[in-house]
Amino acid sequence: MPYKAAMPELPEVETVRRGLLPALAGQQIRKVLVRRSDLRIPVPADFARRLEGRRVTGIGRRGKYLLASCDGGLTLVIHLGMSGRLTIHGPDSAGARPGRFAHPAPLPGPHDHIELLTGPGARIVFSDHRRFGLMTLAEEASLPQHPLFKQMGPEPLGPDFTPALLAARLRGKDTPLKAALLDQHVVAGLGNIYVCEALFRAGLSPERRAGSLRGKSTVRLAEAIKTVLEEAIEAGGSTLRDYAKADGSLGYFQNEFRVYARAGEECSSPGCGATIKRVVQSNRSSFHCPRCQR
Ligand SMILES: [Zn+2]
Repeated sequence: MPYKAAMPELPEVETVRRGLLPALAGQQIRKVLVRRSDLRIPVPADFARRLEGRRVTGIGRRGKYLLASCDGGLTLVIHLGMSGRLTIHGPDSAGARPGRFAHPAPLPGPHDHIELLTGPGARIVFSDHRRFGLMTLAEEASLPQHPLFKQMGPEPLGPDFTPALLAARLRGKDTPLKAALLDQHVVAGLGNIYVCEALFRAGLSPERRAGSLRGKSTVRLAEAIKTVLEEAIEAGGSTLRDYAKADGSLGYFQNEFRVYARAGEECSSPGCGATIKRVVQSNRSSFHCPRCQR
């Protein structure tokens, strides 16, 4: 199936965050190995030196970025890009709490670019064969002004994400709704899959002009965005609980999509009977039901 290699979106990143917590939160980063620094933005030359010896006090998320807060006001910023993965290895001792994510440590693979070794001996490996992901450092206090976050739109699961706010972000936009929602300046964290799913739930065509949404449509869309993300996070959480993958990698899970990658199949809305259609918008596949979505 050609759509399997999907990029991580907000729910996958959130699942990775939750999976990392037991191995990394509260732990000291004892050693940092940088094998390759030419990621989407170069890994800073002093990356290992600044990070080694710090304790991770918490792991947050902003859009598709993971933010590991360290003592001394430093934040480790991680983005998985298109193909990035975080894998936790060892140790086997139960006291270290990587728990069921503990796996024997293999030799580093050709795409294992960065490794964090924690005090209790867990190895957290960042691999990314396409290298669109990144790991960098930022001062926690300056994160809101940081180039990666300064222009970022609201968190769709945050308390401020109301239909009125969504309407304001879409107002006057001539782009198709699909493109507007993929724009991280409009809403943070959405990608191709969850935009397709949210538009289906809201009954809105991906090709509709973004600025044309009014009243109830905006309410439906804001609710649909929250619902698809919450359901996916829940599905990711259940994957984490059952995690048995031999390599310990986090965050990718099989979800049930209603339109995504279902071109040619019958629409799942009761009584609809139409066929899910695929259209290409700005080089990305959009899937929608031409009858349910207007
Ligand atoms: Zn339909």
